[in-house]
Amino acid sequence: MRCDQRCEHCMLNLHGESPRVHHIKPSEDGGAHTLSNLIVLCPNCSWKVKNGDIDRAALKQIIDEKELENARINNLAAREIDEWFIGLDNTVIYLV
Ligand SMILES: [Zn+2]
Repeated sequence: MRCDQRCEHCMLNLHGESPRVHHIKPSEDGGAHTLSNLIVLCPNCSWKVKNGDIDRAALKQIIDEKELENARINNLAAREIDEWFIGLDNTVIYLV
């Protein structure tokens, strides 16, 4: 899970809290129900977003950075699988 059971804004551990899932761009403004437009927040951050004390652009930046990092990790994993394999004698063979 992307949020790792923490508020994606303040990183508060959400054990025992009631997490809120927010649309970064509100659905009434055409915001999609997609992961890149959703963020998990603690009740305090959720309240701050509703009050305008947390900028939605800052939330978007958090999610964009996480998605970029996930893409980098997935790309790295795919490349590692492409570049090496285990030989019959259990040695790792690298493709160069
Ligand atoms: Zn929070």
